[in-house]
Amino acid sequence: MTTPRRSLPAPARRGLLAQLLFGKPVVAAAEKHRYHCGVCRVTYGPVGSKGELYALRTWHRGDKHGGGTPDGEKIISPPPPPPFAKLRAAGAMFKRTFVAVGIVCMVIIVIVGW
Ligand SMILES: [Zn+2]
Repeated sequence: MTTPRRSLPAPARRGLLAQLLFGKPVVAAAEKHRYHCGVCRVTYGPVGSKGELYALRTWHRGDKHGGGTPDGEKIISPPPPPPFAKLRAAGAMFKRTFVAVGIVCMVIIVIVGW
């Protein structure tokens, strides 16, 4: 079986000022999904996207089970990330932004002369 390869989306690019302020973009690790057929007792994968997984499932159903849904088939996906993982990963960005805003405020206060 050959599945069409899809390239991963390019990470968002940031300008120099945005990189200084926000750091490098946070890139989530690719999720790995597996397909398990309970009748054949075979597990396929891992694959990087749900689209590839559904294509694999469709191929297996058609090739081994005449297009029907085998008993006990399941899709095994990685557990979801902790609820604050993205926020925690962006913590450095918040600190840099806070420091930059503080510096700008100090400069304004010095120039205006409180
Ligand atoms: Zn099967």
